[in-house]
Amino acid sequence: MVKIVVDPGAGFCFGVDEVIRTAESLLKKGEQLYGLGEMVHNAEEMKRLGTLGLRTIDHSRMNVKKPGKVLFRAHGEPPSTYRLAKELGVDIIDGTCPIVARLQKKLNRVYDIMDHDSEQLVIFGKPDHPETIGLLGQVGGHALVVTTMDDIKKIDPDKNVFLFSQTTMDPDQFREMERGIKAFLKKGKVDRKTALIRSDCTICGQMKKRKPGLATFARKYEVILFVSGRNSSNGKMLYQFCRSLNPDTHWISGSDDLELAWLEGRRSIGISGATSTSREQLESVASQVRMLTSSLQ
Ligand code: SF4
Repeated sequence: MVKIVVDPGAGFCFGVDEVIRTAESLLKKGEQLYGLGEMVHNAEEMKRLGTLGLRTIDHSRMNVKKPGKVLFRAHGEPPSTYRLAKELGVDIIDGTCPIVARLQKKLNRVYDIMDHDSEQLVIFGKPDHPETIGLLGQVGGHALVVTTMDDIKKIDPDKNVFLFSQTTMDPDQFREMERGIKAFLKKGKVDRKTALIRSDCTICGQMKKRKPGLATFARKYEVILFVSGRNSSNGKMLYQFCRSLNPDTHWISGSDDLELAWLEGRRSIGISGATSTSREQLESVASQVRMLTSSLQ
């Protein structure tokens, strides 16, 4: 008998879960709902929401006719999107995750009080990620986004640094970035002790917990099937982490990607996923794996 287990720590994060529930409940009431951008980086889930009636639009198509409403996703939006919605007279439902909203406010506050001649804002994140675009909007675009260690050289070594992070980044990489920035600032004219004025690891608590939990899970099973959309940055990071601990890890978007060869002769199979992968998707992959493994016996 093959042991097939779904990772108890996997499933949608709180912010994504909330926004999807909001979308579902409005759509079930028959509301005309437009999602501004993908609600979740997960093609299967977007397809499911599409069948419930959710239409996905981009910022250039925000002028939806009433009674249609526009839903903002958990990643948040820059102030310019709220202004545009107001100008267009569009009804919005704000699905911004409260943790992201808090970070937006925090950045805004720091930006207001900092000395722009001697201090600079740095965000560890992905420049094209919607959350980072929303964060940049809080400070009029006046922050440097660093993703790789190579980006550190773009920092002004003669200015002190306020460092923050996109909520979905890897905590270990944040610490590495922090060390790299500290070392880089030693080259500049700023006081070494105060150069990194504030380093705030604003990575979401759910993200911080995922890696230790996944580490235990990945080592426990012979094969790991990691389920997530290919465009999920969190999915890519967690998959790579899982694979570093268990080389027999396979990244799939859903049951259709399963290969029999991965399951043949295995006694234990673990199924995990990104914070943008629902429990339902993980359970559906588990059922398919059960079917395939029983056909092999
Ligand atoms: S990862 Fe955390 S901060 Fe980001 S949307 Fe999910 S719960 Fe909110």
